[in-house]
Amino acid sequence: MTTSAELFDLASRHIPGGVNSPVRAFKGLHRPPVFMERAQGAYLFDVEGKRYVDYVGSWGPMITGHADQDVLAAVRARLDNGLSFGTPTAVETTMAELICEMIPSMEMVRMTSSGTEATMSAIRLARGSTGRDKIVKFEGNYHGHSDSLLVKAGSGALTHGEPSSPGVPAALAEHTVTLSYNDPEGVEACFAEIGEQIACIIVEPVAGNMNCIPPQPGFLETLRRVCDEHGSILIFDEVMTGFRVALGGAQAHYGITPDLTCLGKIVGGGMPVGAFGGKREIMQNISPMGPIYQAGTLSGNPLAMAAGITLLGKLRTPGFHDALSQRVETLCHGLQERADAARVAMMTQSAGGMFGVFFTSQRRVDNFAQATACDPEAFRRFFGAMLDQGVYLAPSAFEAGFMSSAHSAEDIQFTLDAAEKAFSLM
Ligand SMILES: *Cc1c(COP(=O)(O)O)cnc(C)c1O
Repeated sequence: MTTSAELFDLASRHIPGGVNSPVRAFKGLHRPPVFMERAQGAYLFDVEGKRYVDYVGSWGPMITGHADQDVLAAVRARLDNGLSFGTPTAVETTMAELICEMIPSMEMVRMTSSGTEATMSAIRLARGSTGRDKIVKFEGNYHGHSDSLLVKAGSGALTHGEPSSPGVPAALAEHTVTLSYNDPEGVEACFAEIGEQIACIIVEPVAGNMNCIPPQPGFLETLRRVCDEHGSILIFDEVMTGFRVALGGAQAHYGITPDLTCLGKIVGGGMPVGAFGGKREIMQNISPMGPIYQAGTLSGNPLAMAAGITLLGKLRTPGFHDALSQRVETLCHGLQERADAARVAMMTQSAGGMFGVFFTSQRRVDNFAQATACDPEAFRRFFGAMLDQGVYLAPSAFEAGFMSSAHSAEDIQFTLDAAEKAFSLM
């Protein structure tokens, strides 16, 4: 039998770090990543035959569980027609209609092949439509890996972002202003100073890439107001939250209407898909209708559309998201009880079908500084003990957890029993 450790050694010979996306590498966790063989419902099965209750769900798409039979059947039904044509197909219109119906702020939508492309394109569209270069983002929010978005707050001056990766030109990073999440005063101060230069704000309406941090009341409202006051475009990056926090995304849950929305993950049903869309008057600036260029050889791929459409359709079952949130609450409540009993400093936060576990004695975590103040060593031990017992959590303290409708009461109980043991070992 080949082990994960052996496969990781082999992978590392020709793939940088042995992985095709960094978070998979279990960096800082003192163990090799687990190589998976197959998945079904709430479970992953590794190459050594071990079963895990999975709370990563391919980082979000598997909201009805892995290997959903309806999604697979939809893909299978199209397979023999060919994989891609590079021409329009009717199924792309079906997808566009479905998205615009489910997220009414999206009057027009363009498909991409990843979330990164969706946010990158939305930023270009915002800049091109306003004729302004500066953009505002928030510390600890992740919007994919395009240059303008790999920027952290510079020291001191509001107006000078610094590249968060070598290879991002400082001259480009200067146009990205990075502010603190859940700090409406900071946003107002920034707009008071340079509002007329700002093309857009891009925000995760629930932050899911620094663990799980919901917006405080008033934060998203402030973003909407300053954008309106200064002619800037408000972009909700709902790549993670779309169809997960609520059927209509975080914007439906919190009742704030952005100008543009970015989607990914669930919208592709597990295939490589992203989308961006919003107000018609903005979207019609995109080529070939307007002058702002955006394109993609495999965008709107018919197999990917079939998978996404089928999954989105299933989420419209009445009560789907209420039941999903209920599962999240049961899990979070159970974890809290067991951590308290074991005197482990831990707390949870959640929004709809996503949640976060924080090893801290803070009562609440609202921003990046507070998220990074949590105990990394406690996370490492908890993660390892859970993995050993067959529970697969995100291999980083800065990622959200994802629930699926395939997680049964027994699966959640199994997870809580494992957590009780994990806490007792800490
Ligand atoms: C995952 C994610 C992205 C990037 O999507 P990719 O498909 O990985 O390029 C962008 N924004 C948010 C909020 C995400 O969670």
